[in-house]
Amino acid sequence: MNSQLYQLGWDDFFQGEFDQINPGSWAPVRVVRENRGQYIITDGVTKSPAQLAGSFRMHSHDSNQIPTVGDWVCVQGELSGDLVIIHALIPRRTLIERQVAGDESRSQLMAANIDTLFLVSGLDAEFNLNRIQRYLTLAGNSGAQPVIILNKSDLCQDLPGALQSIEAIAPNVAVHTISAISETSMECILPYVEPGQTVAMLGSSGVGKSTLANALLGEARLLTQSNRDADGKGRHTTTWRELIPLPRGGNLIDLPGMRELQLTGDEEGLKQVFEDIELLAEQCRFRNCRHEGEPGCAIDAAIEEGELDGARYEQYLKMKRETEFAKAREAERARKAGSLNQARVQKDRKFKRIHQNLRKNRKAEEKWGRENDRY
Ligand code: GDP
Ligand code: ZN
Repeated sequence: MNSQLYQLGWDDFFQGEFDQINPGSWAPVRVVRENRGQYIITDGVTKSPAQLAGSFRMHSHDSNQIPTVGDWVCVQGELSGDLVIIHALIPRRTLIERQVAGDESRSQLMAANIDTLFLVSGLDAEFNLNRIQRYLTLAGNSGAQPVIILNKSDLCQDLPGALQSIEAIAPNVAVHTISAISETSMECILPYVEPGQTVAMLGSSGVGKSTLANALLGEARLLTQSNRDADGKGRHTTTWRELIPLPRGGNLIDLPGMRELQLTGDEEGLKQVFEDIELLAEQCRFRNCRHEGEPGCAIDAAIEEGELDGARYEQYLKMKRETEFAKAREAERARKAGSLNQARVQKDRKFKRIHQNLRKNRKAEEKWGRENDRY
């Protein structure tokens, strides 16, 4: 295996999965871009256009099994730059999905095998804690490690106040304060983009994602807002998701168009982000407590005593309803397709991977262990 492959993110986990499916003549490559069934893949040296094998299409009834940017897939032989055929998907370690709005209500795969998800917020205007919670939930569902990046510190009036409010909603998540216009302030994020690491950024338009990406790239490859069209629609920015190898050896996946983030029916992220509320709910006197003034309700009591912020609880309810709705739609869809079992198997596998990933991250594990002795 060439060392470029390791810089691209290849490791023992993927090697193990690959060995199980490789008939002998396959080689692993990573998806750099995907657009309506047209792929660009790379082995770290050569890039080639690629398409799914006909047999691949026929056997993947589940849209989750179609490769997306960041995926590792199998091709035959060495890359030459000519069109190649993708024969199989190597199981993922992490997967970022969101719900697609509209009637169909299915999830859209955004990117796979991201190690760290930068949740970028600007410190200039009043930042939106609810949005950060939504991003955290999405990260929790994906299995990627979230890191909160607070940008534009040069424009911040009350940094301690901002940090305190973040700490309150995300006590276990790393937080870095930077100013993307100062290179030195960004040194704290370099460890996340070491060779072999894959990072993606989530954040509203204008928070500084492109500025940050350019600093990592060391060149003005993505256009920042100041040189976009005046209408702010960013017509000249990339509109596709793309994996970009960084000069230092890490990989950045650009995720444009991630403003609208509906949650999928995955409950794992919600449980992680609102663990305090889930634990409280277990202490209600009645198992089916609706937390609407029933006697012995631990949530009502915590809000009354000021231990739980009422607004935080409201946000939790809102996101829980959204998740449950999406889950019901997913189940309905799976039932119609007659593939409920298949969907379950996929979900189970995904959770297995999320837990494998948690174990892999020693820091998260240690913290988790300390705070959850009962496990
Ligand atoms: P994006 O939409 O998230 O990609 O945001 P951009 O990277 O395009 O940045 C939006 C605007 O904020 C641009 O005019 C940047 O120059 C500016 N900007 C980005 N980071 C900082 C920062 O740390 N401090 C200040 N003052 N401005 C910044
Ligand atoms: Zn209750």
